[in-house]
Amino acid sequence: MAEDRTDQPQARTSGLHIDTRLTQLGRAGVRKPGFVNPPLVRGSTVLHNSCAERREAGRHRLEQELIYGLLGTPTHFALEDALAAIEGGTRCQIVSSGLAAITVSLLAYLGSGDHCLVPDSVYGPTRHFCDTLLRQTGVETTYYVPTIDPDSLAALFRPNTKVLFLESPGSHTFEMQDVPALARVAHARGAAVLMDNTWGILFFQPFAHGVDVSIQALTKYVGGHSDIILGGIITARDTDWEKIRNASMTLGQYASPDDCWLALRGLRTLAARLKQHMESGLKVARWLAARAEVYQVLHPALPGAPGHAIWRRDYSGACSLFGVVFQPDIAEGSMIEMIDSLELFGIGASWGGFESLALPTTGTIRRTAAPPPLAGPAVRFHIGLEDPNDLIADLERAFKHLRRV
Ligand SMILES: *Cc1c(COP(=O)(O)O)cnc(C)c1O
Repeated sequence: MAEDRTDQPQARTSGLHIDTRLTQLGRAGVRKPGFVNPPLVRGSTVLHNSCAERREAGRHRLEQELIYGLLGTPTHFALEDALAAIEGGTRCQIVSSGLAAITVSLLAYLGSGDHCLVPDSVYGPTRHFCDTLLRQTGVETTYYVPTIDPDSLAALFRPNTKVLFLESPGSHTFEMQDVPALARVAHARGAAVLMDNTWGILFFQPFAHGVDVSIQALTKYVGGHSDIILGGIITARDTDWEKIRNASMTLGQYASPDDCWLALRGLRTLAARLKQHMESGLKVARWLAARAEVYQVLHPALPGAPGHAIWRRDYSGACSLFGVVFQPDIAEGSMIEMIDSLELFGIGASWGGFESLALPTTGTIRRTAAPPPLAGPAVRFHIGLEDPNDLIADLERAFKHLRRV
């Protein structure tokens, strides 16, 4: 089926900066006659020239071989190639959602009698999966304090610990994890290191920091327009790849090629959008940090914020999702009134789109290893592509609702 992939990308991308690579990956080079973008391919059945050819194709199920639509189309493969390249891994499996990328990865590595270590600050639905379906398959999960030191983490390992799961920064509370140090502990004990790198996007290179499987919810900044749900898993080593690819196929995972095509389009502007998100996010974060009503801004890229030293060491930039903790004596109800009165911030889950969002954190997070590190009522902000001065003016108006108890 090789001829079906001749319009697949092979633009030069090595040795180029990431902004340039994002314009080249997953498409043909600039000297190839034809449209700029690869076509969108939809399909279920793939026809072969002979029975022998079909049999031969089946032997390459782990590769990007055209066998059946469920196993991928050229549109999926183009996005997979691009994403593996930006994460610094070798191969990528696109699945239906960010959450599916997490559940497929955990199921690929864990089975009855196994144990896994998961940060207490993990994305809520990941915790729910570990506490329900994963537990039903006979896997035990221990939640650890996300900022744990390596020796204390080592003490939590058991002979049957197969997976160390990481997510940095933590969902809603933004704790930064020392990924290389924690990964070393896991590898010394034969466990695999899986990481939810959705916040890190282009700014954290997971495989250079000891991660074996990196997960991103493409729903967020890669999609960038709040109009797709998509997930991706990238693996660095061939042994890991087989596990991931098999688990994805066994579970019938699939993503629409239309959504993959939109994600490819999102990649072209990702670097430019992220620069603006980062700049605006930091501008709003600095304004918030200077307000008397604010106790703490949980933005790893903000000097003085928790985890800033790790961010500076390991990250080349930051997205625009962060938390704000109000003074302990700010009435929670008044914070809710403040959020309700915002005119430019939507109230909604997810993030990474062009629009700003505000979501109360208080009362929504579940912790079992230690109490949540929030001194007062808290909110999570996503800063979109609006002019940050308009956002600050909106916040300034809304802050009039805040009251001390
Ligand atoms: C949103 C999110 C996910 C899940 O992505 P979906 O595509 O919405 O399933 C996973 N991890 C993190 C950190 C997220 O923010």
